[in-house]
Amino acid sequence: MSAPVIQGWCPGALRPMMSGDGLVVRVRPRGGRLTPGQAKGIAELSARYGNGLIDLSARANVQLRGVSEAGHGALIAGLAALGLIDETAEAEARRNITVTPFWQEGDGVQDVAATLASALAAPDAPQTPGKFGYAIDCGPVPVLQGVSADIRIERARGGLCVRPDSAATGAFATAATVAPRALELARWFLASGGAPAGRGRMAAHLAAGARVPDLFREVPAAPHGPAPAPVPGPAPTGYLVGVEFGQLAAHTLAALSGCGALRVTPWRMLLIEGAEAPPDLPGLIAGPHNPLLRVSACTGAPGCPQAHVATRALARALGQSLPAGLGLHVSGCAKGCAHPGKATLTLVGRPGSTVDLIRDGATTDAPSACGLDPAGLTLSSLIEIDDAP
Ligand code: SF4
Repeated sequence: MSAPVIQGWCPGALRPMMSGDGLVVRVRPRGGRLTPGQAKGIAELSARYGNGLIDLSARANVQLRGVSEAGHGALIAGLAALGLIDETAEAEARRNITVTPFWQEGDGVQDVAATLASALAAPDAPQTPGKFGYAIDCGPVPVLQGVSADIRIERARGGLCVRPDSAATGAFATAATVAPRALELARWFLASGGAPAGRGRMAAHLAAGARVPDLFREVPAAPHGPAPAPVPGPAPTGYLVGVEFGQLAAHTLAALSGCGALRVTPWRMLLIEGAEAPPDLPGLIAGPHNPLLRVSACTGAPGCPQAHVATRALARALGQSLPAGLGLHVSGCAKGCAHPGKATLTLVGRPGSTVDLIRDGATTDAPSACGLDPAGLTLSSLIEIDDAP
């Protein structure tokens, strides 16, 4: 089995990543929100300089795929005109912020997001690893506990709490002190050896025995368990729509831009501000019972150079009739980009364009069946293998 390649950094707009279908250009919407003009502009730029496909990422970003190296400069100029480009690649890499999409006018969430983004833009802001990020989860109800982040900003004691990920306590903060506190914690993470060789995450650092400064021990975290991921449907500030496998076509994004501002969520869904019903557009998932909501599939072949098989057509064919209670993950290789956790049925591409089946496991777990031909697979055949003693 060939081992997946670990890149160790996240692509940005100024520092894109080459993939099998061209450059992947990741755009980080400010405050997790795209105005109608920005969404329309991204759709036009995707169609002009990319292959017309746009990913929604697990960090609430949007990725334009299939961009040529020759077109990258013009694309960046277009994105800059939309207000979506940072001063430098370093500043862009630092601005790794996920914002609760359920903020409401006057609750201060967007102010916190703007203040933190401004602090991270300073040239002397801590240059944390590419995957290191911040979650702003101080909306009406916390919803980001299950979303990857290293520094969490939540509500506590009538104010805010800046909490290291996985810690039971954090530092009390106000709107004025929240950004300095967050950067102080990031500086401590680096100074205390959290990122040897430029890589590292907060939870692993604490698990290895690092002790946070006393300042971050003063406020207990709010007592809440992990929030389940939201499902498509009406939300207090609009309508939440999913997209198949977290990817939408440029023309779909252009049509959505006509419905209102879009909040990009870390669950690969978009919240259409102010909408009371979903638009009727191909590829949108408008309700909670669509079985494709329980199906994950990465880019696969030919878009990803590490993929051994095409993933999405297989996932769509098998997933359309997935019985309630089952989850399906189709991964082009063992890296498992689309779904790092377990699924009832996991198919992993192997050299020779075959797949292995893993039951109730993740892509790196031991398979129940190996060397299956994707062309001959049906859901019932998979479940029969799955049920075999
Ligand atoms: S899991 Fe999929 S997208 Fe990730 S590296 Fe493997 S083939 Fe590529």
